[in-house]
Amino acid sequence: MIRIENLHKSYPIGKDSLHVLKGLDLHIKEGEFVSIMGSSGSGKSTLLNIVGLLDTHDEGKYYLNEQLIENLNEKKAAVLRNKFLGFVFQSFNLIAYKTALENVALPLYYKGVSRKERLETALEYLEKVGLKEWANHLPNELSGGQKQRVAIARALVTKPKVVLADEPTGALDSTTTDSVMDLLKEINDEGMTVFVITHEEEVAAQTNRIVRLKDGIIISDELTAVAMNKAKAI
Ligand code: ATP
Ligand code: MG
Repeated sequence: MIRIENLHKSYPIGKDSLHVLKGLDLHIKEGEFVSIMGSSGSGKSTLLNIVGLLDTHDEGKYYLNEQLIENLNEKKAAVLRNKFLGFVFQSFNLIAYKTALENVALPLYYKGVSRKERLETALEYLEKVGLKEWANHLPNELSGGQKQRVAIARALVTKPKVVLADEPTGALDSTTTDSVMDLLKEINDEGMTVFVITHEEEVAAQTNRIVRLKDGIIISDELTAVAMNKAKAI
């Protein structure tokens, strides 16, 4: 689903440049539940943004769903994002003046879905994340965990193949973190590929595989106990 070979990324800083990703190799198969860890500044968000077609790489190859990603203009990137990807961010990025329902329905608008169908589908997804009763509330009337669940419903409403989450539990307390992780697990059980950045070991331990970044390279890539137990149960 996601295949990366010798990926490099630098940011220009004045006349210099900051080499952030220094030759990453990573293969994530369809249906995997992978977390990425590493200290602040190690390049996690940079990697996720490249995988999410929100930014471009300088060197190396990136294949999304077997398609080589190169020379994408913003329009083509947006088409691929709409087709394959759903995003969840730490800060939720909900639109403040739109209700929970309207926020979830928005990605369907960009897909050209009719208003009636948008609202019906959005309500289905709010129900999925346990927030049907909150459909007509504005984001500032919701708790942090509820906002994050709205954001997850919004990420899922277009039925993406891959959900990319940058510190989705970073702003949440531990109980709410657990419920958000349970939701991601459920999504993954339904076959979606989930790729999540976290700095919390307890969060990473709930995924199936942990990739660790340090100074722009992958220093370890291991299955978790959850994955081992799953394999044993089969
Ligand atoms: P955190 O855990 O704090 O979110 P991270 O691992 O996600 O960190 P990145 O956001 O990928 O780290 O940043 C990696 C490095 O690249 C940092 O040194 C950061 O300052 C730098 N960087 C990130 N984005 C840009 C940018 N748009 N322009 C210049 N430098 C950037
Ligand atoms: Mg980051």
